[in-house]
Amino acid sequence: MVRAITILTGLTLLACACTTQAFPTQQAVPGGLVIIPVAKQSQAAPLAYYAGQRVTIVPHQGEWLALVGIPLDAKPGPQQLEVASAGQQETISFAISHKSYRTQRLRLADHNTVEPDEASSARIIQELALQKRLVRQFSEQEAQTEFIRPVAGRDSGRFGLRRILNGHQRQPHSGMDIAAASGTPVRVAASGRVIYTGTLFFSGQVVYVDHGGGLLSMYAHLSQIHVQQGEMVTQGDLLGLVGKTGRATGPHLHWSVYLNGAAVNPALFLQKGN
Ligand SMILES: [Zn+2]
Repeated sequence: MVRAITILTGLTLLACACTTQAFPTQQAVPGGLVIIPVAKQSQAAPLAYYAGQRVTIVPHQGEWLALVGIPLDAKPGPQQLEVASAGQQETISFAISHKSYRTQRLRLADHNTVEPDEASSARIIQELALQKRLVRQFSEQEAQTEFIRPVAGRDSGRFGLRRILNGHQRQPHSGMDIAAASGTPVRVAASGRVIYTGTLFFSGQVVYVDHGGGLLSMYAHLSQIHVQQGEMVTQGDLLGLVGKTGRATGPHLHWSVYLNGAAVNPALFLQKGN
């Protein structure tokens, strides 16, 4: 069965106060997320896949909703969600529109983090593979979708910026940068389990937290890490301190949010005014 849905902009039914959890804001663009009703809650929770990745399903007002993360490199136009529910397979079509992200030019003095040498390149390739595995993690717990801002500070680099580093085009910005003094406490955005802590070439001292259902967050450039791999954490817990480890122009928190393996705009998970 194939069904097509039209995405309403500013979908208001999801802003309802009758749910225990706040929902992220829908934005049907590359780097955004799309919320799609997939089954009645009287049925067992269906399985849903987008671009081969399992998608998180959350209950809301008698329905199961799929929260589909759209990668920054997705092409605007028709997209498909595969749903398996009560022994039936269904393809749901939806559309995403174009979004133009701004360009940011940065200058960095540390030559090796801009044009890594051979030894660093081998390390970077390994770490990219590791990070890809981490963000594709899917655990069965219901996703904790209500986030708090992990650090107080000024927004210094929006999600999706097309970056030009010392004149060279780099990957678009996969997170949100929040500038704050070194040593400022960084808080866990939502409850979950720490699945990785370590030091990476670009990200510096980093923590990954699994919030369930393929929803993860990542905190980079920390000067100190205060949690351990495998630890369960609660929203607001002290995770570490702001720093400038790895490739950073100054002390700030780089905060990324991943849904079904795709980096999506963290701002969509924050309530207005947060
Ligand atoms: Zn950043």
